[in-house]
Amino acid sequence: MTRRSAVIKIGTSSVTDAQGGVDYAVMVKVAADVVALRDDGWTVVVVTSGAITAGWADVGRGRRRPTDATTLQAVSAVGQPLLMHAWRNAFGEAGATVGQVLLAPLDFSHRGQYLHARGTLEALAELNVIAIVNENDAVADEEIRFGDNDRLAALVANLIGATHLVLLTDTDGLLTADPRLDPTATLIEEVNAIDATIEGIAGRSRSGVGSGGMSSKLAAARMATWSGVTTVIAPARVDTPVQRALGLGPSAGTTFHPRTERLSARKAWIAFAVASRGTIEINQGAMQALEHHGRSLLRVGVVSYEGGFAEGDAVEIVGPGREVLAKGLVRVSAESFADGDDVVVHRDDLVLLRHS
Ligand code: GLU
Repeated sequence: MTRRSAVIKIGTSSVTDAQGGVDYAVMVKVAADVVALRDDGWTVVVVTSGAITAGWADVGRGRRRPTDATTLQAVSAVGQPLLMHAWRNAFGEAGATVGQVLLAPLDFSHRGQYLHARGTLEALAELNVIAIVNENDAVADEEIRFGDNDRLAALVANLIGATHLVLLTDTDGLLTADPRLDPTATLIEEVNAIDATIEGIAGRSRSGVGSGGMSSKLAAARMATWSGVTTVIAPARVDTPVQRALGLGPSAGTTFHPRTERLSARKAWIAFAVASRGTIEINQGAMQALEHHGRSLLRVGVVSYEGGFAEGDAVEIVGPGREVLAKGLVRVSAESFADGDDVVVHRDDLVLLRHS
């Protein structure tokens, strides 16, 4: 049997209270559940948000929250140890030790760094320590920060090869409409495919103080389900929130089932973790060859390209209507495009992104 493993992400609105301070009661419930899972043989990694909000509650003393990125990043440096102090105590009550792992986008886009981060998380699990992950907000480059922990959590799920991703938030899950506007809104319990209807529903709902909102949760669910990870968006402020999300108690939340055709870990890394360094537009023939015949992208199929990509960089491949068809690693640089290899993106380095 494959070992079950879960990434549990808790949003800012759930981990902090109305004043922005750390909500210890929620942490205690999450910690108890996580430790119960661990004792049952699961590997569990927690992704926490709330550093900026908790930091400002401490340092801002009731003043209005600043909006400039540099101050917010500095404020996260105040909040992060407050979060970790509370997590350490909450997990201590449940009988477990925690370790802090702060990750930045570059840790995911450099393959060596990516494997290194995976090694660290695996070693912590071996030591029976619960890893508590957040983005390295204090120093992450504003331009390329994730900015929302939903995406970070999906990447961590992919990184550790998790079977489950749980996004704990301040709603019951994905609802058919915004309950504040429509009292007939009901919970969608299961989603088999994230299609335009589901995306439309998510686009109309929002959540409180976090930076994610429902559409960022859906983007994370898409990323995770494509990597074979069952994803659940579920309420944080209930008893046994994690067990319920995983259907181990009275079930709660919206469960997104993984695609049957799962991407390999490497292809998921190409599709979702690596930042794109350019765009290649291809013609109809190449589009057919890629999408229907599983071929590599050859130079003859390229109409135009943009960006200063180097050999090995990731690029987006778009069709005649500029729709994104695929992502892949190029075998030629933009500079040597005309006289480089005939194979621009080899099929082994190519991920098709459209529902077929
Ligand atoms: N990393 C941010 C923080 O801890 C949270 C981002 C989010 O709201 O998802 O403050």
